[in-house]
Amino acid sequence: MSVQTFRYEGLPGRVLFGRGVTAQLADVIGQVGGTRALLLSTAQQADQARTLAKHAGALIVGHFAEATMHTPVEVTARALVMLNDLDADCVVAIGGGSTIGLGKALALRTDVPQVAVATTYAGSEMTPILGETAGERKTTQRTLNVLPEAVIYDVDLTLDLPVAMTATSGLNAIAHAVEGLYARDTNPVIGLFAEEAVGAFAAALPRLIDTPRDPEARAEALRAAWLCGMVLATTSMSLHHKLCHTLGGAFNLPHAETHSVVLPHALAYNAPAAPGAMAALRRAFGGEDPVTALVALARRIGAPTALRDIGMPADGIDHAADEALRNPYWNPRAVERDGVRALIARAYVGDPPAA
Ligand code: NAD
Repeated sequence: MSVQTFRYEGLPGRVLFGRGVTAQLADVIGQVGGTRALLLSTAQQADQARTLAKHAGALIVGHFAEATMHTPVEVTARALVMLNDLDADCVVAIGGGSTIGLGKALALRTDVPQVAVATTYAGSEMTPILGETAGERKTTQRTLNVLPEAVIYDVDLTLDLPVAMTATSGLNAIAHAVEGLYARDTNPVIGLFAEEAVGAFAAALPRLIDTPRDPEARAEALRAAWLCGMVLATTSMSLHHKLCHTLGGAFNLPHAETHSVVLPHALAYNAPAAPGAMAALRRAFGGEDPVTALVALARRIGAPTALRDIGMPADGIDHAADEALRNPYWNPRAVERDGVRALIARAYVGDPPAA
């Protein structure tokens, strides 16, 4: 047996997980050194954020409720004015990747510590990655400056995550685990996290479609999301994420839904070149073929399976293939135009994935 060479770098940060743990928000703000916190949320979660903020009392000095998809720099600029006007020394971001992205963007500009209270399965709270948009242009960077200092996973905050979002957000998280398993910089610790997370999601997501407020299934899914976030945080992304970024950027497709549709196709493409990842995923799916199992899971939980159903135009296939080939990410299997075009064409109509 050959001996694997690998590097492992742990990231700093603290995690508080459980039911009702947002009640400890004041302590967590204190742990990151905050004395005057700016609360961040979307407009949709403004009420939920305000309710939680009561746990921190006077430590919360203001609420910016305009977080939005893709972290536009003009929204960050408005939040920055509020941060400075209030003399805030910390941010508390309550929400999914969009709100947590805003907290990261503020930390990048001011170095304020962040408390991220995650309410979806996207995983951004665990990563040193920030994507921002200025006009049409999206830039992504990795820097420890944006890694949240503390993360709260309160299972109770996810009980009302809408069912459709539960499905697509879960598949978005599974995509981080899948790509982590065959990443160039994978390692045995990441392998454990990823395999465990896929198995947990495969069990929890169908239960949540049937009984969305089941606290045990919610806890399993949130624990799996945390693991997937750690995988994304320390491994490089490959073809799947490249395709999702390309398709999302070119046609303004919804983030989690795009991941849901593309994942089985990207895995089928990479399967011949990733035997170790396929073996781990087979174990996670209880012995089933991983591509077949992913397709079945997506159907079982009602996730979209065709790009045309989530807004991609028919004449976009060639453009998407060209873009995916531009500055490709490292991938276990060579990224060739014919294969990638065929992959996108299948994903467009929702045909079965093929290698
Ligand atoms: P989101 O944050 O855009 O949330 C979508 C909507 O759902 C929002 O209106 C939000 O307020 C609402 N919502 C969130 N949680 C809810 C809950 N528990 N109950 C009811 N409503 C709730 O969605 P997302 O998928 O979490 O994040 C997507 C964004 O995050 C994308 O821009 C993506 O690029 C980014 N992202 C970044 C990273 C990273 O590491 N930087 C990782 C994953 C995703």
